[in-house]
Amino acid sequence: MTESKKGKSPKERKNLSLKTRTIVLTEAGYRCAVPTCRGILALDMHHIWEVSEGGGNDPSNLIALCPTCHALYHRGTISQESIYTYKAMLVALSHAFDFQTIDRLLFLSLCPQDYLVLSGDGVLQFDRLIASSLATVELKANNNWQIVTYTVNISEKGKQLIEAWKQGNREIIASTLSTISSE
Ligand SMILES: [Zn+2]
Repeated sequence: MTESKKGKSPKERKNLSLKTRTIVLTEAGYRCAVPTCRGILALDMHHIWEVSEGGGNDPSNLIALCPTCHALYHRGTISQESIYTYKAMLVALSHAFDFQTIDRLLFLSLCPQDYLVLSGDGVLQFDRLIASSLATVELKANNNWQIVTYTVNISEKGKQLIEAWKQGNREIIASTLSTISSE
């Protein structure tokens, strides 16, 4: 991180209205926009198109980053292309789903196969992902129908979406989301 960029951000932050911050934070589910992070603490407003290059304070030019990811971006560890992709993903996903649903998909992507065994009520938490073919549900076991459980897994399509998000592949994200919205 360079000193000039580090020193500039508090001033930029002051210039942002509460409304703008709320829009950007809501879009990100009040978490860091980097899908491998999703940190919740002390989120910064990062200008995607830098202010020094003419970028404005419109929510479309802002993304929520935790201090660690913000520093990684300024060090070049997180690329500009990745930031564009995370923003595009947040905009698309926040229109298609609420962020609890998106974080459940991220959670599922970390679970081993058949790890998550749920009651019928539990399955309801994944209903939007299942309806969108991003997750699958199977009847797991029953004891003469007294105990009914289900396993919920991320689908191939869900894996593809999460991988594309993490890798910053906008083409795959766009094609996957277009099949969701057409269903
Ligand atoms: Zn982060």
